[in-house]
Amino acid sequence: MIYLDYAATHPVYSDIVHNLHDIVNKYHYNPSSLYEPAINTRIFYESQRAKIAEFLCVNEKNVIFTSSATEGANLIIKGLNYKNRKMIVLWKAEHACVFKTVVNHRDVEYKLLENPEGYITYDDIKNNIDKSTRLVCLMHVNNETGAINEINDIAKKIKEVDKEILVLSDMVQSFAKIPINLEYIDFATFSSHKIGGLRGAAGVYIKDKNQLKPLIDGGGQEYGLRSGTENVLSVYSMAQAMEVARDIYTAKNNHLISLNDYMRDICKNKKYSINSPEKSVPYIFNFSTKVLPSEVLINGLSEKGIYVSSASACSEKSHNTSRILKSMGLEDDVINTSIRVSIHPSTKLKDLKEFFNALDEIISLYK
Ligand code: PLP
Repeated sequence: MIYLDYAATHPVYSDIVHNLHDIVNKYHYNPSSLYEPAINTRIFYESQRAKIAEFLCVNEKNVIFTSSATEGANLIIKGLNYKNRKMIVLWKAEHACVFKTVVNHRDVEYKLLENPEGYITYDDIKNNIDKSTRLVCLMHVNNETGAINEINDIAKKIKEVDKEILVLSDMVQSFAKIPINLEYIDFATFSSHKIGGLRGAAGVYIKDKNQLKPLIDGGGQEYGLRSGTENVLSVYSMAQAMEVARDIYTAKNNHLISLNDYMRDICKNKKYSINSPEKSVPYIFNFSTKVLPSEVLINGLSEKGIYVSSASACSEKSHNTSRILKSMGLEDDVINTSIRVSIHPSTKLKDLKEFFNALDEIISLYK
């Protein structure tokens, strides 16, 4: 089996799996209860928050845990006090959890940003913001192409023009993998299962909690912004995975770059279309054979035990056309044959060689 779909989800690191048994036994108490083991559970849970906050260089009171990054995006977009402003400016290539939440929000208007380069700069934004703008949504790393937006610099420039405009950045594909700077960012989301932790835990950085009202009322957990008994186990796994990912992605950055270079070279030789901009993370690579539809390639590869994706695995099945590739002005034959390879520091060159050989075999069957 060759797994090349780490951007869809990441297997839980085995050391973390190993520790879960002890953690669930020791900290299964409700952190809100008042007896000693429950108080220890609270202390343990809050120490995970502190670890994540320290990693993000923010105050722990500004980190809220949710069940998924999707929930986090919904909390911010639906819970925000828009004051007398109604406009949200967002990239056309935002993940569905941001894109659909904005588009389906009845009380706001929105403007879509696009750039054929496949990433957004401040120049793309500056003529689209004005006194009606309340929120700009711009993800850090795109999940389909790996394109990087210089989000903190962009947010700084937005703030220089108008401090009332808030910036939300989806950091699901960058968290713990590349450096993150939240200095000028108001809201950021991240998720455990993308980095090797359990599902069911994710987080939101919120610079000013007074700007939001909760979507979920109840016992008032998570500073009143997200009621529900705390998911101690999954949050623990996320904090652990964050440390493992940070170390391994830093140590193996050159390896990831060399694998990315290898994929780019092969695609150039074979005259495949490279859809990931140069300014992308090395661990997500998108290309199109222009020969066979993505589904045919993915199924053929799956039969050989090689797992990749085309458009985001989390995208809506019935509207599966890639918004990012469309926003780059690419032709249908490129969009419909695109493949996303997302790798991990443990991916080997021989895995990618096998992948490209398998691709050749499948394509030759249809010639
Ligand atoms: N944002 C991006 C960029 C993603 O890639 C994903 C998952 O594919 C999400 C958000 C949603 O994350 P979650 O599964 O935690 O809701």
